[in-house]
Amino acid sequence: MNRDSHLPPLPTKVDLAVVGAGVVGLAHAVEAHARGLSVLVVDAAARPSGATARRGGHVAVTTQAATALACALTSRERWLKLGRDAGFGVRECGSVVVARHPDELAVLDDLVAARAGDAVALDGRSVAERTAVPDALGGVFLPLDLRVEPAAALTAVADWLDSHPQAHVAWGTAAQTFDAGSGCTLVRTARGEVVARRVVVAVGHDVGQLFWEAGAAVSTLRRQMLRVEPPTPGDPGAGARLTTGPVVVGTTTFLRDGAYTASRTVGAVQERWRATRPEVLDHDLHLTLCAQPDGSLVVGDGLMPAGPARSEAVDELLLREAAELLGVDRLTVRSRWSAPELVRADGADRDPFVVTEPLPGVRTVNVTDGLATTTALGLAPRALDALF
Ligand SMILES: Cc1cc2nc3c(=O)[nH]c(=O)nc-3n(C[C@H](O)[C@H](O)[C@H](O)COP(=O)(O)OP(=O)(O)OC[C@H]3O[C@@H](n4cnc5c(N)ncnc54)[C@H](O)[C@@H]3O)c2cc1C
Repeated sequence: MNRDSHLPPLPTKVDLAVVGAGVVGLAHAVEAHARGLSVLVVDAAARPSGATARRGGHVAVTTQAATALACALTSRERWLKLGRDAGFGVRECGSVVVARHPDELAVLDDLVAARAGDAVALDGRSVAERTAVPDALGGVFLPLDLRVEPAAALTAVADWLDSHPQAHVAWGTAAQTFDAGSGCTLVRTARGEVVARRVVVAVGHDVGQLFWEAGAAVSTLRRQMLRVEPPTPGDPGAGARLTTGPVVVGTTTFLRDGAYTASRTVGAVQERWRATRPEVLDHDLHLTLCAQPDGSLVVGDGLMPAGPARSEAVDELLLREAAELLGVDRLTVRSRWSAPELVRADGADRDPFVVTEPLPGVRTVNVTDGLATTTALGLAPRALDALF
């Protein structure tokens, strides 16, 4: 029963019910809509505020590997189309990974060889021409990478879906229980019930609250991020290159992205860091500078220690590394936050997708390793092929 009289009632029956309106849930809803299926998305929050809405917006295509790379390439095309359809900005700015040591350049050479055409080697001067980084040894330009503003994109996609008669998005509507019927599932929500032929549960780190086994398949870490005031590098053109130019990525990404694991030289870089910059490894730093439309920079990210409190040491490290990269004395923090990130509980070195079937016709879908925005739009077609 709909208890809130100013909200429209939920549809009583749909082909697909999606629980969670983060990037994973909306990716499945968009795909179902494109296939002519009726779809209802419910989200417990009043507006986008989950893990997706808390990140900088880097769609990191080229440095993925195997199934994640295939999904990222599909995802890229779908982001561009969705941006046009739903009317939000998708910036085809690419990214530049910046090397400041010869052993880092060697790793990037391996990437250029492995991703012919999609990874372009840069010397230090070319890095400075494309970014606000003044004194790099060299780097690599990844033209396929994209930048989206996550919270704005989620809002636009949800509104666009909801504008179609066969698609509904209900915010402030928590899903509570799921009863399997014959060929369908009864989904009970805080605002009433809906019968769905199939259900996708994409609630991120909350999955264990609905299905214990699915929750046990993933562990939740928290990662710290900062937004800093628009920096003022010495070169006056550099500010503009930051805002409109590529996402700037540090070489700590070597430890995370699948494309680097095949490099013969990445181990040597890690050994040098262990000897000279152990804090980078201790805090699992993943330095990314993502400019926002107002010129501010989202600086991500480092591992938050277990417990309720953010670590000042992690923030300091992020700020120091970002300032060094940009060649400025200091950066002024505008805001600080943390966001959940999932990893596989079994620690297996497999693709980042954790899908379970707790009931017939019901799938939980989680994307681990900080790759949901990069891959979810490419994962959804595969998931729906399996579901319907
Ligand atoms: C610091 C950091 C940096 C990252 N960087 C990147 C990156 O560069 N590239 C990339 O691709 N990914 C990145 N990620 C990962 C990515 O942002 C997240 O993994 C992803 O957004 C998770 O999406 P989701 O849709 O699964 O979850 P969420 O975005 O958290 O959405 C889940 C939704 O489910 C809703 N919900 C929960 N319970 C219920 C319920 N019972 N009923 C209804 N609704 C419910 C919540 O309100 C929420 O809106 C990063 C993550 C972090 C932490």
